[in-house]
Amino acid sequence: MLSRVGWKITAYSVLVTTLTIVLASFMINQALDRQFIAYLAESENERNQQIIATIQALYRETPSWPGIREDLEVLSLVTNSQIRIIDVNGNLLFETFQMRRGPRHQSMMEAGNASTYTTEEKIFFDNAVRARVQVTTVSQRMGRLHNTQDILFRQTINNSVIQAGFLSLLFALLISYILSNRLTKPLLTLLTSVRNFGRGDLSQRVLITSNDEISWLNQAFNEMAANLQNLEVIRKKSTDDVAHELRTPLTTIRGYLEAMSDEVLEANKENLGVVYDETERLIQLVNDLHELAQAQAPLRIKEDVDMVKLIRALVSRFRSLFQEKQISLDLELPTSALIRSHGRSLERAIGNVLINAWKYTPKGGAVNIYLESNQEYMILKISDTGIGMSVDDLPFIFERFYRADISRSRSTGGTGIGLAITREIIEAHGGQISAKSEINVGSEFTIRLKL
Ligand code: ADP
Repeated sequence: MLSRVGWKITAYSVLVTTLTIVLASFMINQALDRQFIAYLAESENERNQQIIATIQALYRETPSWPGIREDLEVLSLVTNSQIRIIDVNGNLLFETFQMRRGPRHQSMMEAGNASTYTTEEKIFFDNAVRARVQVTTVSQRMGRLHNTQDILFRQTINNSVIQAGFLSLLFALLISYILSNRLTKPLLTLLTSVRNFGRGDLSQRVLITSNDEISWLNQAFNEMAANLQNLEVIRKKSTDDVAHELRTPLTTIRGYLEAMSDEVLEANKENLGVVYDETERLIQLVNDLHELAQAQAPLRIKEDVDMVKLIRALVSRFRSLFQEKQISLDLELPTSALIRSHGRSLERAIGNVLINAWKYTPKGGAVNIYLESNQEYMILKISDTGIGMSVDDLPFIFERFYRADISRSRSTGGTGIGLAITREIIEAHGGQISAKSEINVGSEFTIRLKL
């Protein structure tokens, strides 16, 4: 069975083949006619010229038209031609009537099968024009063009063209059948996959066997399917993670409230403080989630931001916090460093790293901010002499809700979302973030932004 595309391809190729055949036979016939007529004209003219040469010779011998009239009549009879002699004043001296009298020619002329061919020449004698002679012959072959050998020849040619046409048509049908099958088969496979995917089977993929537009389409489908499947996994995991993150503080709150209402626990400042802290944590979590969602939305990166100014502003905002913990803040910055970015987001991304350095560095530690630019990149390093992280934790710290040491993080009130937000923002800027760390020695975060 042919597909719809198959029918279309077949229809087009049949149309093209038929048109080619019709055009070819038309042009072949036209060319034949042209060639034949040219050939006839040439041979008729040659014949007439020979007759005229004979007349010229006769006149040279006997320079009197009445004197050679008999000869001309004979010539006319022998050559099947009509000879007309016109004097220098344009008067007809005489004409032979051979052609009109001949019964065969008469009938040919009447039947409309024959045509005539006339040649006119001047007859010279003693370097002067003596008369004009018109020789008209019946074009016998012209008559034959449309009935005997020539028609046969033409028919043979046309038959060959028609046979070739039928063969081409057969080939066209065969080729379009094979072609349409080859074209539509992968499309139909893709269609089935797309339908199954649409019905919810996200594991649908198509096999890529060639390297053409259809296989690119298949490849694009596979990529799209993989991305959507990934997103679906992330969506499910997010919901799970969020539910999990919400459950812990909510369970604590409910436990405390139940205990207090059952009067197992006293509703004193300390116990209410726990409830308050957990509520705060919930609010922080919801805010962080909101910010993460914002960081995942496309950013309009079109401000020219001076990174040095941005860092100095952050430092002055957090300086009192650092002073409280007696953490020294060292800056190694150039005078200015412009970068195309989304200023507010970039500030948030760097702020997260800086505040982590503060959070995870014990009293009396040191934090260093180093910025340099080369031709291609701007590199920002924020290092601390804090508690550090194990190599097992490092690969995961940029994942949502990941906390290197949950109990420790809990005490600092972290939600495990800050670095995830930072990574989203940095990557949205076409940059990268990485971290090195050693437990109880410190950590170093490197942000690399393309200029
Ligand atoms: P949090 O809100 O918990 O700080 P983040 O996403 O900002 O969440 O960080 C993820 C985890 O990475 C933290 O819980 C912490 O364990 C670890 N971490 C981040 N920055 C540092 C740092 N400067 N020193 C030590 N550990 C860090």
